[in-house]
Formats: sequence, C-alpha cells, structure tokens
Amino acid sequence: MSPRPKLVLVGQLSTFPWVFEAAERAGIDVILVPRGDDTEESARRAAAVVEVLPLDIEGNAEAALAALADRYRQEPFDGIMAGNEQAVPFVARAAGELGLPGLTEEAATAVRDKRSMRRHLREAGLGAPGFVVVEELDDWTEALSLRFPVVVKPANGHSSFGVIRVDDKDALEQAVAHTWKLVEAHVGADDGLAPEAGVLVEEYLDGPEISAESLVYHGQVRVCAVSWKGELTGPYFQETTLRAPAQLPAEILAAVEAEVIGAHHAFGVTEGTTHTELRLVGGVRPVLLEMGARIGGGGYMAHLAHVGSGIDMAVDALRIHLGREPLCWGQEPVPAGHAAAFQVPVGSGGRIKQIHGLDSVRADPRVDYLVQTTGPGAVLRPYPDFSGYPVIVLSRHGSDAEAEAYREHLARTLYVEYEEQD
Ligand code: ADP
Ligand code: CA
Ligand code: CA
Ligand code: CA
Ligand code: CA
Repeated sequence: MSPRPKLVLVGQLSTFPWVFEAAERAGIDVILVPRGDDTEESARRAAAVVEVLPLDIEGNAEAALAALADRYRQEPFDGIMAGNEQAVPFVARAAGELGLPGLTEEAATAVRDKRSMRRHLREAGLGAPGFVVVEELDDWTEALSLRFPVVVKPANGHSSFGVIRVDDKDALEQAVAHTWKLVEAHVGADDGLAPEAGVLVEEYLDGPEISAESLVYHGQVRVCAVSWKGELTGPYFQETTLRAPAQLPAEILAAVEAEVIGAHHAFGVTEGTTHTELRLVGGVRPVLLEMGARIGGGGYMAHLAHVGSGIDMAVDALRIHLGREPLCWGQEPVPAGHAAAFQVPVGSGGRIKQIHGLDSVRADPRVDYLVQTTGPGAVLRPYPDFSGYPVIVLSRHGSDAEAEAYREHLARTLYVEYEEQD
C-alpha cells in the first residue's frame, strides 16, 4: 500500500469535521462523494479531501457504481467507507465489487431496515420488543394487539423523524396516520426513506437510553464506548444530550457489551464501525433499539468515544476500511476525561430570529466543537417532523457531574428564538 492511502468517503457531510480531521491525523487522503445536500465548494474545503467525486447514488445507483469503478480503474484507491446511514448499502456493494474491505450486501441490508433488525435479533435469541408492520394505512388495527404504550415510527427513518409514543389505543389511528403522512411528504426528498417501507408500531421499552460505539475487524467486535442519553419519554424523541462514559455498574456494562456483540453477529456485521442504540429496560436489561453500520452522529460520537475511552475511533474506523488493523487492537488506550454533547432543541419550530448564547459557548475552554448548521431566516419544523440539528456542542470535563452541570447550563442559555407568527 502507498505511504499515503486513499479512501473514498461516501456521503460524509463536509460541515461535520470529525472524520475529516481523523483522516488528516492518520495521513489518509480522502476522495469525498458529497451528500445531495452538501455543496461542492464546502466539500473541497474539508480537511484531508484531495478530490471531490459527485455521484448520484440515490437517483441512479447503477450509474454511480459504474462511475466509481471507472475512477478505480484510472487510479485505484485503497478503501471505501460510508459517511451516513443511506450510503451503507451502496458502499457495501461497491466494496464487494472492487474487492475492498467492507460489509457484505446482506449485512448492509439487514441493518438498513428496522424490521429485519428485529427479526434477526429474535432469531438469535436477543431481546426485541413486540412489533407490527403497517404496510397499508388501513392495517393500523393490527397493532392494537400490542402491549401499550407503543411507539409508531417509519420503518426506515432517522433522527427520530416521525417517531411518536402512543399511550392509549384510542390515539393509535391518528398517530399512525400522522407518521404515514410525514413519510409520504419526505419520499423523494434526499433522505433515503423508502416509500414501500411502511410504518412500524412497537412496544415501548421503558428505561433510560444509552448508545454504544463499536469497532469490528475481521468479525471481532470491540465496544469502545457506552454513552448515557438518559430518560427520553416522548411523545417525541429529539436527542438533545449525551455523556460518555456512561456511569453504570460493571455488570450492566457487561450485559450491554454482550447484547451489542451478539447483535453484530446476528446481523453479520463483520467489518467497520457501528453506532448502536439501546434502552435499559427497568434500568438494567439492555434491549437494542437499532444499529447503524457506520460512524455515529456524523462522526461526533467518535469524538465523544475518543475523549471518554482514549480510543481514536474515527482513525481506527478509517484504518479498518483500508484493511489495516485498528490501533486499539495493539495498544491500550488512555481515557482522557468525560465528554458531553448538546444539541439545541428545535422546540416549537418556526422561522429562526436568533440563536442565543453562541458567543459564550465559542469562548468556553471546555468546548471542543461548536457546529452550527443553520441560522436566522431558516425555517425549522417541530418534532415529530425533522429538518436538521441547528447546533451541536461537544465539550469535555473532569467528571460526569461537571459534564451534566454544563449541559444544564447550555439548556438554559443556548436556544433558538423564533419570529412571531402572524
Ligand atoms: P430513528 O432511526 O429515527 O433514530 P429509533 O428507532 O432509534 O429511530 O427511534 C428514535 C427514538 O425514539 C429512540 O432513540 C428512542 O428514544 C425512541 N424509541 C423508538 N422506539 C422505541 C421503543 N420501542 N421504546 C422506547 N423508545 C423508543
Ligand atoms: Ca392489508
Ligand atoms: Ca436510525
Ligand atoms: Ca435512532
Ligand atoms: Ca441517533
């Protein structure tokens, strides 16, 4: 392999710096396939990017694959990695055809669909809530057989878009119709929602939420970090906060690890990095919500994991996709502290007048990153709809209590003010 390996990164949003900076740290050159909502100019500016290769993956996957194979024949690259959820199946297929490390197409398909994830987990004897797939709107009555409360969601969604908790059977029809309408409105908008996917209704898992970031190399899984998301009771589920490492007893962490490793085996995920979300039912029993076979949070989960565990997950993920052993396989990491993430709540939504509190966040030495994706004049739709995360703040602290206190400070001081509606 050349001293400076080249990796194709598909659909990594160029305004999210973490994976690009990791490539720079590791001396890896990036060929970026920009996401539909990215601009070529911004893509070119991202760290480590030496080439921008626009491909219409959503519109014409066959042509995109042919163009990628052409590019490979001109000058081979050493690996390919998915930078977002929608890119996972395409990247698996491309890796297979070009003989590069990656997931099998079966595994990529298994983790892209919440129904198949549930089925694989059950077959493997792992925890999974009861669920019903509503394939046509009229079929919502089939979900009345579930134990309430339930959660209604797109079978193929993201970012808690269209996810609604329902406590009463009387409210189910309306919630299913609401989610159905949201899915239909988004089909064709560049977010990979498959129209045929339908809506899922599943039993509510009562307990705090956690997330696990893992590396997997030649089938061997290492859970690098477990983060605490806390109580999210709905009825809508915007993620606003995370802390790593989660302060949990060793036996619960061990159970989480076992469940996460089992899920990798059940899905056939043998290569790369994953982001797994779980609930601790009754505060103790881990049950999977879902797994993404890609870096979490557009890369920011890797940063949290890095601070909390000492493992440079983004670098190791890139290495795996280049066929190289992850560094943490050979050297014991040194944890660097406690990390926290805060995403500004969308709240009521509307046209943004101002985002308050940004200057003091920028000046705060505890803050590693502030990423702002929108500003005054833009319109944010409230949950259960989704129009992006306005602001993400990543900070580091000496203790979990300090991380929590800072998060509470941000919740009070960093917020969106909307224009008055007339
Ligand atoms: P998405 O792909 O939109 O992130 P998820 O299945 O992860 O879909 O659901 C989003 C959020 O909704 C979860 O993080 C969780 O807080 C909540 N949620 C979803 N399903 C359940 C469930 N069965 N029990 C409890 N909470 C759930
Ligand atoms: Ca039917
Ligand atoms: Ca998801
Ligand atoms: Ca999720
Ligand atoms: Ca998530």
